[in-house]
Amino acid sequence: MFATLSDKLDLVFKKLRGQGVMTEDNVKDALREVRLALLEADVNFKVVKDFVEKVRSRAVGTEVLQSLAPGQQVIKIVHDELVLLMGGSEDNSLDLAAKPPVAIMLVGLQGAGKTTSCGKLAKHLKGQRKKPLLVPADVYRPAAIEQLKVLGRQLDIEVFNSLATQKPLDICREAHRYATLNGFDVIIFDTAGRHQIDDYLMEELEGIRDELAPREILFVADAMTGQEAVNVAQGFNERLGITGVILTKLDGDAKGGAALSIKAVTGKPVKFVGLGEKLDALDVFHADRLVSRILGMGDVLTLIEKAQATFDEKETERLQQKMKKSGQFDLEDFRNQLQQIKKMGSLESIMNLIPGMGKAMKQMQGAQPSEKELKRIEAIIDSMTPKERANHTIINGSRRLRIAKGSGTSIQEVNQLLKRFTEAQKVVKQLQKMGPKGLMKGMKG
Ligand code: GDP
Repeated sequence: MFATLSDKLDLVFKKLRGQGVMTEDNVKDALREVRLALLEADVNFKVVKDFVEKVRSRAVGTEVLQSLAPGQQVIKIVHDELVLLMGGSEDNSLDLAAKPPVAIMLVGLQGAGKTTSCGKLAKHLKGQRKKPLLVPADVYRPAAIEQLKVLGRQLDIEVFNSLATQKPLDICREAHRYATLNGFDVIIFDTAGRHQIDDYLMEELEGIRDELAPREILFVADAMTGQEAVNVAQGFNERLGITGVILTKLDGDAKGGAALSIKAVTGKPVKFVGLGEKLDALDVFHADRLVSRILGMGDVLTLIEKAQATFDEKETERLQQKMKKSGQFDLEDFRNQLQQIKKMGSLESIMNLIPGMGKAMKQMQGAQPSEKELKRIEAIIDSMTPKERANHTIINGSRRLRIAKGSGTSIQEVNQLLKRFTEAQKVVKQLQKMGPKGLMKGMKG
């Protein structure tokens, strides 16, 4: 999905991740590339302009430039703003809060996927224990009525027996009466389409809308047509007042323009996405999930959020300063870091959030400390004197015995911890040499 856009943004992000320090110029360069990638994906020009400005103003804030991982922060801002652009976390579920039968009208151009989406929607509602009635109201395209009847048979969902000789408004009235008499919860109207917006069609649709007072008027948009779909959506919205959008053919090689601009331009949310020709290829739309797919970031964002929420920034900064000054970290720091890790949840659950890391951890079975071990390590360090924590080389045999007794552990366990600690010191030194760039590479694994 949106392969070119994904690749382009990935390149920008790769560069950003490599930045140890971020300046306004870095941000500007990155945003220029983001802007180009979005324009190439056929996102509406004005939408791109507003979007880039929003990201820029947030990204050049001191919060980002002074933060520990500025590149990551910018990526997160781009992510968050993309989600907002597509409607944020608002509830996109259908509004069916009315006396049944509740009417839903699907509108759009010919070939956008209206009839198919009627079938998919009926299946979706049936899955929610609703009783939907499908109503073909396109009397102009000869095969349209039959197409819906075929879908209905496949789904075992009743299709109203419309006749091509009837007027669409009459079909709607009769279907409504039929649905009321026969206990249907929802009526889904498949309306006529055209190759482009025309007045005659709009008048007919307005007539149907006024007669039925549908709870939802869903515009079916072909994502492959990019900005054109957005313009048509706006045209339908101005005449009919649509309530939402079904974005079809996202499984194809759509560039992303329609998905990224349609909410911003029409103000109406995408409620469903079509991901194939089959009748179960309809998903409820979630902006955040689509953005994560576009950015190919998976759960790394969850990880960053988790780390941000739990890591004590002051402690991290203190440690950074200390490392800069002396290039050393001691047992006291070791314990503080362990405490932070503990706050984030189990080591395993954290590692699972990093792509590739969960698997690697399983292969290394036993190499990482368990929760119980963490507690023991803490107890051992607690039994040391501040002097010992600051300089572990003074911990001789008699001190080891005292520490083991104090912490309720054995000398072997104290030895083991000291060995681990000296290894950790080495690793940290190595990581420092690699810099943030190398660290990210290691994480992406
Ligand atoms: P209508 O004229 O708007 O009623 O469009 P149809 O429902 O007849 O669909 C037109 C074509 O698009 C058909 O070949 C459908 O199978 C196809 N189609 C509809 N939705 C999707 C989708 O989400 N993905 C793909 N790949 N094809 C779709």
